[in-house]
This record gives sequence, C-alpha cells and structure tokens, in this order.
Amino acid sequence: MLLTITTTHFPATELGYLLHKHPDRCQSFALSFGKAHIFYPEASIERCTAALLLDVDPVKLVRGRGARLEQYVSDRPYVASSFLSVAIAQVFSTALGGRCKDLPELAQTPIPLVAKLSVLPCRGGEEFLRQLFEPLGYNVSAAGHTLDEKFPDWGQSKYFTVELQHTLPLSDLLSHLYVLIPVLDDDKHYWVGDEEIEKLLRHGEGWLTTHPAREQITRRYLKRQQRLTRLALTQLVEEDNTDLDSVEESHAKEEAAVEKPISLNQQRLDAVIAALKQSNARRVIDLGCGQGNLLKTLLKDGFFEQITGVDVSYRALEVAQERLDRLRLPRNQWERVQLIQGALTYQDKRFSGYDAATVIEVIEHLDLPRLGAFERVLFEFAQPKTVVVTTPNIEYNIKFENLPVGKLRHQDHRFEWTRSQFQNWANQVAESFGYTVEFQSIGTEDSEVGSPTQMGVFRR
Ligand code: SAH
Repeated sequence: MLLTITTTHFPATELGYLLHKHPDRCQSFALSFGKAHIFYPEASIERCTAALLLDVDPVKLVRGRGARLEQYVSDRPYVASSFLSVAIAQVFSTALGGRCKDLPELAQTPIPLVAKLSVLPCRGGEEFLRQLFEPLGYNVSAAGHTLDEKFPDWGQSKYFTVELQHTLPLSDLLSHLYVLIPVLDDDKHYWVGDEEIEKLLRHGEGWLTTHPAREQITRRYLKRQQRLTRLALTQLVEEDNTDLDSVEESHAKEEAAVEKPISLNQQRLDAVIAALKQSNARRVIDLGCGQGNLLKTLLKDGFFEQITGVDVSYRALEVAQERLDRLRLPRNQWERVQLIQGALTYQDKRFSGYDAATVIEVIEHLDLPRLGAFERVLFEFAQPKTVVVTTPNIEYNIKFENLPVGKLRHQDHRFEWTRSQFQNWANQVAESFGYTVEFQSIGTEDSEVGSPTQMGVFRR
C-alpha cells in the first residue's frame, strides 16, 4: 500500500521539515502490524514527493486468533485501510498535529498538495468518494479497477487509484485522510471503543461538523455501533448546532431588542475594553465572537495588536467578516485580525498564545454538562493571563418591560444565572485553575436585583 504526498510549494523540499523526515534518507518504522517505510521519490525545490509505503504482515495480523486460511488471504496488506491511518498517526504524528519545530508557520499555511493512494477500497463507489472529499475542497480523480482483468464481465471492484488535490495546510490533509480512509473502507482492524469518539472529534475538528456527510462518516468511522454513533453525533451536533446559524442571525436582534432601552451592548463593550486595557492585554482572542461586535471595537483601537475571533457558526463568521470589511481599514491593518471556526468545548491549539480571552454572552449558550469541558479548554489548555466573561444576570429580567415573566433573554440560552450562581461558578473555576477573579456589574444597577449584565475578570 503506497501513499504519496507531493507539493509544489516553493521551496518544495520544506515538505521534509513539515513531515519531520529528511528527504535524503529512507527510514523504516516497526508498527504492530508490519512496517512503514518513508522515502522521497523526488525532492527538488520545485517539486517534492514523500512516499509512505506500508508493508502489512499478514501473519502478524492473524497471530493468536486461531487463524483460518481465509484470514491470511485478504486484501488488508495491499489496500489503504485503518492500518494506513494508524501509520499516519504514528510516523507523521507531529505533522498530523499541525506542529513543526523548524517552520511552525508553514505548518499552518495552505500549500498546494496532491495525495495519491495506490489502492483505496471505496465501499459506496466513486460517488461516495467524491461526496467525502469534494465538500472539503479537493479536486478528486479516481480510476476504478476491474475485479479481474481476465474476466471483464465480473465488473468493477471496489478498489480505486485515487488522486486528491487541494491547497491546504498539511495537517488538514493528513487529518482528512486519517478519518476518511477507514470510512471509505468501512472497516477497522481493531476494536472500536469509546476512545474512538475522541479520535474522531479530534481529527475531525474544524471540518467534520459542517461536512454534509458527517452522519455517514460518523456511523462508518465508529463501525456502525449505534451507541457510539449516537454519542458522537450528539457531541457533533452540539458543536455544530446547525440551527445556531439561523438562531444566531436573529440572536443579535432579539437580545438587543430586549436590552435596547439601556444600550447595554455599548456599556458591555466599554467595560470589557477597560478590563483588557487594565490588564495590558494587547493580543486578544474573542471566543464565541458571533457577528463581531467586540472585534469591530478592538480593531478600531490601535492599542490591540492581535485580534482573533472564534465561533462555531460559519454564518456568524461570514457576517462578522462583512462587518469588518465595511470598516474599510488600510490593508496593513488586516494582519491584526483573523476569524476562525471552532468549538469552545474541544481543546484547540489555536486558542493558545494570547494575553487575554473574552467570552462575551457565550457561556449561557453552552449546555450545562459541557461547561466543564469549556473550562478546561480555556483555563487549563489555552491559559491566557486574563479571561473576561460576561453573562446575563437573571435577577434583572423582571425589569425588562418587553420580556415576559420567566422567559430567558434569548431562545437559545440554555440557562441564565443569578449573581450568586455566577460568582460561585467563577470562584470555583478560579480556584481549580490557579486564577483570581473579580466581579463587576454592567448597566444600571438596581438596589434589589443588581445590574443586567455581570462580568468576571479572571487573572493568572
Ligand atoms: N460574543 C458575541 C456573540 C454572543 S452570542 C457578542 O457579544 O455579540 C453567542 C455566540 O456563541 C454565538 O455566536 C454562537 O454561535 C457561539 N457559540 C455557542 N456555542 C458555541 C460553541 N460550543 N463553540 C463556539 N461558539 C459557540
């Protein structure tokens, strides 16, 4: 089984750094089911190809399982299957994780890549192959193989020689292959347990949630085990929440209408900006940035050097992008801002390296059982020095004339907290992760029910 990856990025030999494998050498690695050999059939500055040759040992495959003859006679050693995924994860682990010591930026940069798979079993045929890769932006070419050249009327086999072409970061290509090869093959050589969900979500991060075939991918990846598939899909759905897109379009309007009389939005932005400046936070990541309210304000203020907005909703990010475009800033200012699609409840290396994270009117959109995951993603893994969190104060709701009693401020809010609920949560989070937290109220303060918005500023 042969996988080759070719780039025409200049200088193409940088592929060697990205893969952590020197183009001048041929290296072999022992895996539990055979050997992986890495070598470069071509390596010039114009064009460089790395090859991963998988030499699956059919005897090792069946050892200790009371093998019968037909188990030795199988296609497994010769086709791309979950063995190839395991090999990718083991011999290209840093590249798969998007890391590169020597060229860290290149690891995140889209470069022209072509992956060729000598024999890929596609259960579902070429159509399914295209359904998997084309929505991710690949140019797909596939040559089918007949079952047996000597007997053409036996028809086509499920085997294809496949070429996938796209301009994208190498880690994205490897993640796509890692997940989708076993999906096409529709089999796994090892027992599929709960940890497979974690692998699927980790390697599917940033693309699986919005993939039109995500249900089929999940079902097949988890070997059609209904319990696991259901579990994974609920997590994916939560992460993706397609209807968040439409919900979010009305979100701004709906919540703003409730809160308008006191122009709470402006007061909230002012308070957040003041807290950021007080912490001297110049590099800021806005988690759950929505349509870019805060991003816009940060971008207009020269104090902030690097601004990143993250949201799970693609639609919200599109609107944010349009609103930022409308600022008509000089070109060089664009380098200060970037938008990324991501979920806050899954660990993400892209969230690290900022002075501060802002989480403005977002936590109440997370399901309570997933709040713990979010806490770890932010406070344990991303670990910015400062975290600013705002959320509605439910006690204040009775003061909104246009809000029926007992109703939350927005239909997608999973909860709204009293002041003591928020402070208990925040104090416990601060204590668990080594932060201190201070509270501030935003908006007109009422002697009984407090102010409409509550803010916690965490510092490490
Ligand atoms: N901070 C913005 C938007 C608040 S609305 C503002 O103040 O205007 C909440 C936002 O959180 C929405 O845009 C929603 O898409 C996003 N969101 C909800 N759950 C999320 C999750 N799990 N991961 C990432 N974003 C999420």
